[in-house]
Amino acid sequence: MRNTAGMQSRWSDTEAANCPSLLAARVYTSRLLGADADLVMHGGGNTSVKVTEADLFGDPVDVLYVKGSGSDLATVTEHGFAPARLHHLLRLAELDELTDAQMAEQLRLACTRADAPAPSVEAVLHAILPATFVDHTHADAVLSITNTPNGRKWIEELYGDQVVVIDYVMPGFALARKCALEFPTRRTDATVGMVLMHHGIFTFGESARESYERMIDLVTMAEDFLASRRAWELSNAASTDAALAPRGVVAQLRALLSDAAGAPLIVESTRTARTAAFLARDDHAELASRGPMTPDHVIRTKRVPLIGRDVATYVADYVRYFERNQSRSHAPLTMLDPAPRVVLDRELGLLTAGRTARDAAVARDIALHTLDAIERADALDAWAALPEGDIFDVEYWELEQAKLARQGAPAQFAGEIALVTGAASGIGRATAVAFLEAGAAVVGLDIDDRISERDDQTFLGIPCDVTDHAAVDNALDVAVRRFGGLDMLVLNAGVFPPSARIEELSVDAWRQVMAVNVDANLSLLHLCADLLARAPRHGRVVVNASKNVHAPGPGAAAYSASKASLTQLARVAALEWAPKGIRVNIVHPNAVFDTGIWDVQTLASRAESYGLTVDEYRKNNLLGVEVTSADVAAVILTLCSPTFAKTTAAQVPIDGGNERIV
Ligand code: NAD
Repeated sequence: MRNTAGMQSRWSDTEAANCPSLLAARVYTSRLLGADADLVMHGGGNTSVKVTEADLFGDPVDVLYVKGSGSDLATVTEHGFAPARLHHLLRLAELDELTDAQMAEQLRLACTRADAPAPSVEAVLHAILPATFVDHTHADAVLSITNTPNGRKWIEELYGDQVVVIDYVMPGFALARKCALEFPTRRTDATVGMVLMHHGIFTFGESARESYERMIDLVTMAEDFLASRRAWELSNAASTDAALAPRGVVAQLRALLSDAAGAPLIVESTRTARTAAFLARDDHAELASRGPMTPDHVIRTKRVPLIGRDVATYVADYVRYFERNQSRSHAPLTMLDPAPRVVLDRELGLLTAGRTARDAAVARDIALHTLDAIERADALDAWAALPEGDIFDVEYWELEQAKLARQGAPAQFAGEIALVTGAASGIGRATAVAFLEAGAAVVGLDIDDRISERDDQTFLGIPCDVTDHAAVDNALDVAVRRFGGLDMLVLNAGVFPPSARIEELSVDAWRQVMAVNVDANLSLLHLCADLLARAPRHGRVVVNASKNVHAPGPGAAAYSASKASLTQLARVAALEWAPKGIRVNIVHPNAVFDTGIWDVQTLASRAESYGLTVDEYRKNNLLGVEVTSADVAAVILTLCSPTFAKTTAAQVPIDGGNERIV
């Protein structure tokens, strides 16, 4: 009977029956591995299959289809596998020396398709394993055992000659070469896998199912082994509802982290029963600072987390770590930014940082799995990570450095957070989309519940009536927990009531318009002031007023007065907040018809009242152009960009030119 509720085979005969080829079966079980975060996470792990296929001339060629870089096992497709000539890879494994850059080049040259992705750096290792299917994961349970002072002894005791155990060497050619030399001499008929200390586990087999289920079996054995030594069950804190720290504290920490990184970072907060239990340990700081679960994680999490909030000391330590280790590389190295990516703080919980919301979420997942592995290893024996030099080698690996050098400029608003009110429709929606496309994380507030349907990693949609001060306050807490702060605020939500002349206009109707178009915006400015003041590149506010401010319309008293009042509020905000570097600018759109404010009938009746056709009415401005939501969004983004870094209190019309205003 199983001791743990852990690993289960996800194999399904029905699904497997849909795989017409070896490669299709390879895709299928790769995805099964990818579906299990206890095996692989976020691009980790790799798989392969060896096939014989005809080349252009009809000659048979042995090909290793190995996962290409850039694919994730959970979602990999056939195109995510690189077809490399097996013979070429096996010849490489015979070389005594090869730099990793040379190897990467050879792997590309070995491919039978010019548009193939770059083969995994572990391709040579896959090639030398004598089986059709090879699966490789970084299973938590196995690493919880290898990452202990007696790890090798435990692994040998657990698996016997089912696996060949390889001591840690840096991934890349050195590892492939070591395995090529050691594996054939140490394998027996019982061998179904290979454990790489502090790195991960391989299994292989003649069918996709055999290789996959051997992985599940070996990892299950590791889980059961931990359970039998009372090292599987994790402690959970009784409750996680310790009072949330004020959001300004998180925003301030984000400001410090961004400053250390030299660019704005997204900072996600996570407080679970597990993080609370880990942080309650007296030894949490020392335990968490021993090093990562596998060296690969260093790219996402840095070698150690920041414990507490002293960013300056962390940075100084990182600089010393770089200086101590840089001579390990033959080539001159450029220091990466010294900002931590994982923060453990007793009051704030786990915070993870990244240049994008996705990066912060990846760091979170790795950190959560690492905390579990640490506690299990500690319960078994003691948590032991690799020496810092080994971690440094991966962090500053020539292939990683080359990857960084190839990276283009980051997206314009990468690492920044924009909050847009009224983001479910029209101009607000277009603005949210434009910010997302420009790399920002976006918080969208709207009274329309559908705003939450679009929720994903970079967009947080919160249903919220902006006239409800407490609801806005609460939404800001949620936003700061998810992204860490606020850089740009777009006050866009507004209502345009049916036309009413003053003698017909009730005070109630007037107040309803004022509540949304003016009062709610005071609430938002009031509640966001502190966050905007802590924005790494200075806060920016854009207020969506209207052409009606300067050219009011008959029948639109409440609307025109509300937008004039809003404009005046924004001008005062510009005056008051300039000393904090916060810029406040105003847009005055007119006649933006692809919005919820306008419907076909209103458009037709308005056109008729001016004696124009609908098409003439659409373009009824000096330039004779139609203004769209996307046009307004583009101006809002530009006002938030460095182009307008020295402009505040500007009022920009987006109306095609209006003769009543020029
Ligand atoms: P829209 O109706 O498509 O969008 C307005 C959004 O605000 C809607 O999603 C709505 O649900 C939301 N909203 C309304 N009341 C809310 C509340 N209390 N709390 C939260 N969300 C609320 O219309 P739009 O044209 O995109 O309007 C956006 C802004 O642009 C408004 O302030 C409007 O006055 C202004 N504007 C529009 C035009 C135009 O011609 N469309 C012209 C000038 C100014």
